[in-house]
Amino acid sequence: MSDHPEQLMVRLQQQLAEKRAHDLYRQRKVIGSPQQVELLCNGKALLSFCSNDYLGLANHPDIARAMKRGIDRWGVGSGAAHLITGHTAAHHAFEEELAEWLGRERALLFSTGYMANIGVISALTRRGDQLFEDRLNHASLIDGGLASAAAFHRYRHADTAMLDGQLRAVESGNRMVVSDGVFSMDGDMAPLPQLTACCEQHDALLMIDDAHGIGVLGKQGVGCSAGYTQQQVPVLMATLGKAFGVFGAFVAGSETLIETLIQDARSWIYTTAPPAAMAEALREALKIVISDEWRRDHLRQLISRFRQGAGQLGLPLMPSETPIQPLVAGDADRALRWSHALAEHGILVTAIRPPTVPQDSARLRITFSATHTAAHVDRLLEALEQIQRQDH
Ligand SMILES: *Cc1c(COP(=O)(O)O)cnc(C)c1O
Repeated sequence: MSDHPEQLMVRLQQQLAEKRAHDLYRQRKVIGSPQQVELLCNGKALLSFCSNDYLGLANHPDIARAMKRGIDRWGVGSGAAHLITGHTAAHHAFEEELAEWLGRERALLFSTGYMANIGVISALTRRGDQLFEDRLNHASLIDGGLASAAAFHRYRHADTAMLDGQLRAVESGNRMVVSDGVFSMDGDMAPLPQLTACCEQHDALLMIDDAHGIGVLGKQGVGCSAGYTQQQVPVLMATLGKAFGVFGAFVAGSETLIETLIQDARSWIYTTAPPAAMAEALREALKIVISDEWRRDHLRQLISRFRQGAGQLGLPLMPSETPIQPLVAGDADRALRWSHALAEHGILVTAIRPPTVPQDSARLRITFSATHTAAHVDRLLEALEQIQRQDH
């Protein structure tokens, strides 16, 4: 006997109640201002330390103007997928500019990073192949692995000795190794020297998702793969809604890689191309990412100011040199308590809870933006000091 839809509703209500009981229920905040460090959140003015707008470009006047000019030139909608009539000269120019900046033969623009990761992994692997991923990879890479027909292996976070053992143990099929460049919830960097060496030794294809490194790390902001050739990091993916301040994602690499994705990446083929105006905004954002070295310098100063202050307070910092500076609370209830206490001080940092992070590692994911000031960092440290005193 099959269940009546009513019974499904009962089950869903039970699941929701369970999430509430375990402090795992998620709710959206309604933002009433542009994306910037001073946010209007549920009607309240808060100083935000939790966006991924690392360079402070999400509300940059030149990029906004480029998008408006783009609308005047191209209209609003792209009308179709890239392979039909959606791929304009604006999309094309941006891809060429990206490839040149990154020192890659080609680049391909995707609508979102989630779609890029699903599409790339599926297009590059088939039954009989072997796929290896860091356990702490972003959900989109894990989902890409689950959707792929390849055998899926996961190795302990950043443990290239374990990866090496796994690669030795399988002889058949093509091998693909996939890792975040900067881990999105921990802020630490992938061990790229070891990963590239390991992949070279075992003839494995390396894919790096640099969502949190692009624009932020390396000379001209090229990201964590700065100094690595196309041979060493053959599949380079990153998102454009974080440091770039706009929306979208790309994959960069060889002619053969990009042509394969155009033929076979279903999440790229079977979806409407993003608006051309978005591509115009991205072209302007790329110019600013390249030229505004001061944004990266300033970010580094904010990060070291925070780490020094937090260290003096004895806060549970993680070993991160990037703008992602999590404070691990442990249980979800504690992370929520800290987040609510910060809001009382006028500061917005969301609590990140399982399943986004492993059990018992709920945390405040603090992130910095080039539009924060030293005084903002000091305000955050003062609030954390008071909260810490009350929490004991
Ligand atoms: C944000 C993120 C994605 C997803 O990118 P979207 O463009 O937001 O879909 C993929 N990978 C990593 C590591 C991310 O942080």
